[in-house]
Amino acid sequence: MTRTASPGAYHRYHIDTAETPDIVPWPTRFTVHVSKVGLARHLLRELVHYRADLEIVLSRPCMYGVFSGPIGGFAPRPEHCVGCLRCTTQHPDFVEIRHNPLREKLGDSYFHFNHVNAASYEAQTGSIPVKGAGYRGKFGGAGWDGMWTDMSEIVRPTRDGIHGREFISTVVDIGARPNYLRFGPDGQLVGQVPHTFSIPIPMLFDAPPAAARSEAACRALAQAAQKVETLLVLPLATLRQCDPAGPHIVPLVAPAERPQVASLPFEPRLVELASWDPALYDEIRRCFPETLVALRLPYGPPETLLHYHALGVRVFHLTADYHGTGADGRFVSTLIQEAHKTFVKAGIREEVTLLGSGGIVAAEHVPKAIIMGLDAVVLDTPLLVAMQASFDGEFTNHNSANCQLPSRLTPAWGAQRLQNLMAAWRDQLLEILGAMGLREVRRLRGETGRAMFQENLEREAFAGIEGFGETAA
Ligand code: SF4
Repeated sequence: MTRTASPGAYHRYHIDTAETPDIVPWPTRFTVHVSKVGLARHLLRELVHYRADLEIVLSRPCMYGVFSGPIGGFAPRPEHCVGCLRCTTQHPDFVEIRHNPLREKLGDSYFHFNHVNAASYEAQTGSIPVKGAGYRGKFGGAGWDGMWTDMSEIVRPTRDGIHGREFISTVVDIGARPNYLRFGPDGQLVGQVPHTFSIPIPMLFDAPPAAARSEAACRALAQAAQKVETLLVLPLATLRQCDPAGPHIVPLVAPAERPQVASLPFEPRLVELASWDPALYDEIRRCFPETLVALRLPYGPPETLLHYHALGVRVFHLTADYHGTGADGRFVSTLIQEAHKTFVKAGIREEVTLLGSGGIVAAEHVPKAIIMGLDAVVLDTPLLVAMQASFDGEFTNHNSANCQLPSRLTPAWGAQRLQNLMAAWRDQLLEILGAMGLREVRRLRGETGRAMFQENLEREAFAGIEGFGETAA
């Protein structure tokens, strides 16, 4: 993926990362419990056994420095613990590592603490979290966990792409395209022509919920969106207060704000309608003829989507709640696929762009959502968690008030955390594309052949076996 920096000069797309520590202390991931009596006994035993060879006696079992403070294991430093369990494996009689119950309260039942831990690490370092002790969780589960990506087609050139030797594109197009081009008798293009622009990653930023819409947070989001060359949706009122402008900003306009459209201080590439309003749509088209117009609406029945398509909408931003649940209670993966197939069956999938938000809280959810049929995802809660937002209870939608950002948040700090998150998520997207042998993310859209579904596999394997239906239920 390249872009023109100046005529004739190109650069490979890259997101700059920088170590950006937490701005407020969060509870440590693990608590480290060492029995002082047990440790003292152990040291005495070793003093005798190794004849007071202090180099051996004082060697620590933790390479991460948890026991490397002035008095070693008598005052462990749990903030360094990564949970590799080496210490407790070596000394099960007096060392115990436990999950910190305070850390588990940071997210909620959907954005659970494992996702918080991953997003927090990614935002701090810009790197992919690696679990040295391997994955010890379940393979399968509800929601995105019931879907696995098929990475059996390992192809050398795309593996190289991950390390920059070969090229894997994460560029996506946003806009309207005719299904085919038409030419007149003179060979000139007639009729509708493609009207699109490209962004280098299939991840946009959604407007922060009211509870987290501080000026510092909005500026951080805007700076990060500009740096990573993506788009940030911001309500018109917020736009005025925070004053961000530029091609990375997508004003979100409600019908009541129609009179203010003409006074927008810049020509956006994309404007989002908070709900359908023909007068507002016409006003935007009149003021900014080159601007694309997206419609924000909840995932809904096929007739609704086709109805808005008939009215001229070509970019759809489909929303579920923050837990990935649609209005009818179905999970967002099913809703995405239904929307995608609606346009496929109508023979007009290439004409529209499908953006989707809600329920995408981990790097792996991005390719899964694209496989189900989105062109690009619009991120919400992970951006807040990257900026150390904590939820007090279930945080389900943009009207929920129980989200708190650190009061010391600064735009520069927040922007770097978001850049780090995007770098880590893009790297994981490249990993998946490389392992599938795909050279560009656009070819992943709707490719359900690249995924396996737990429900289907279990049905294939166990259907007909007595009791299967009961177990599955
Ligand atoms: S679990 Fe691993 S990282 Fe944590 S204290 Fe023990 S050895 Fe150190």
